[in-house]
Amino acid sequence: MGVTELAAAIAARQTSAVEAAQHLLVRARQHEGLGAYLAFNKDATLAQARAADARLAAGERGPLLGVPLAHKDIFVTTDFPTTAGSKMLQGYQSPFNATVVQRLADAGAVSLGKLNCDEFAMGSGNDNSAYAPAHNPWDVSRVPGGSSGGSAAAVAARLVPAATGTDTGGSIRQPASFTGITGIKPTYGRCSRYGMVAFASSLDQAGPMARSAADCAVLLSTMAGPDIDRDSTSLDHPAEDYTAALNQPREGATASQPLKGLRIGLPTEFFGAGCAPDVINAVRAALAEYQKLGATLVDISLPRTELSIPVYYIIAPAEASSNLSRFDGVKFGHRAAQYTDLADMYQKTRSEGFGPEVQRRIMIGTYVLSHGYYDAYYLKAQQIRRLIAQDFQQAFTQCDVIAGPVAPTVAWKIGEKSEDPLANYLADIYTLSTSLAGLPGMSVPAGFGAGGMPVGLQLVGNYFKEGELLQTAYAFQQATDWHLRTAQGF
Ligand code: GLN
Repeated sequence: MGVTELAAAIAARQTSAVEAAQHLLVRARQHEGLGAYLAFNKDATLAQARAADARLAAGERGPLLGVPLAHKDIFVTTDFPTTAGSKMLQGYQSPFNATVVQRLADAGAVSLGKLNCDEFAMGSGNDNSAYAPAHNPWDVSRVPGGSSGGSAAAVAARLVPAATGTDTGGSIRQPASFTGITGIKPTYGRCSRYGMVAFASSLDQAGPMARSAADCAVLLSTMAGPDIDRDSTSLDHPAEDYTAALNQPREGATASQPLKGLRIGLPTEFFGAGCAPDVINAVRAALAEYQKLGATLVDISLPRTELSIPVYYIIAPAEASSNLSRFDGVKFGHRAAQYTDLADMYQKTRSEGFGPEVQRRIMIGTYVLSHGYYDAYYLKAQQIRRLIAQDFQQAFTQCDVIAGPVAPTVAWKIGEKSEDPLANYLADIYTLSTSLAGLPGMSVPAGFGAGGMPVGLQLVGNYFKEGELLQTAYAFQQATDWHLRTAQGF
């Protein structure tokens, strides 16, 4: 069951929060080979479930009351250890919950555990996790995408109805696309970053991953909202009821054409030779469905799409090199067992604690921020970042929503790109610009491509248009059943 169905079953007392949690904990163990989870704490989970059942017995009702979820291991939690997929934080126990985690807990959601991810959310295949790769339920020899690969694998394998993820340059949208689930990265600042282990602070954003847009709407309504005292980049914009937005009638809409009047912009740059034909075909078929729903398609241009790769891979490592300097063996996590002096302690601690991709990014970031290179790289990247954001504003004068592929191919084989960082970076081409501009974006299951692997349709909206995005995805999901398909064996 998805979130909405399960919440209804729990509210009707057809099952209990404890029963649902126990069932899914057993399922998670049965499918341990997927590598979706990094940590459980059965006693804590059942205590949360009993508390939810008590609230239900007292007559309380809510769309998440008693519903099991799991969190990407980048959100700090008091009930589970937090590693951010890194050896550096092995065994780290946070004294507080991330705001997003706390809000979901307050709404009565029950946390089953922590989900695998690329180390410090750096990666596109979950193969940078220091613990284990995660596998794609549609073909376990393939990656589930990254960095929120554990979240995607768990939801796609029906181990949990929904999960949290984070997206810095595509880490919600791309794994959702690779595993046939729905995920939304909200406008930057919409969800609090408090308690999210920082990768690139000007890009990091939390969001839900679930089977359907309707289920994402339920989670996002609880996750979003100002948290200004704890996160100075949190936006002072009241939380919205995204579930209500799903069925909000559009001007001129009819029952058979719920999206009448919606202008969908197709960036030329997203449909070029760089995108695999099987992906393009699935995306085009989804767009034809949108036309039936009343939407019109308009050609637009995002001319600096290609530049988003160098710009992102300068800005994100620059911020990461700064954020990760706190992991010095003194304040947090791992410390080398043997060292001669302070400098040696730092060096050994960081060499042992960080994996190769994280070290690579710290070096790139330190380099582009260094005296003499700052103006040439970092400052230039920031200037182009502004132009990329302006390209979107220009595009939104011609359309309401932008659509295209999420990634240029379906999920690749585990190990295929592990030795080639550049190949990983290039695969982020369609998701990075949205993040650089701080815009909301989502991935919606849109069919299957090569090897029978899922393909996602990316939808990007203007700032604060999460409601319209979710409605656009919801209308599609009312007319199609891609999001209901489940991988064989799950
Ligand atoms: N794949 C991108 C990276 O490696 C995006 C990761 C993310 O969004 N956290 O940085």
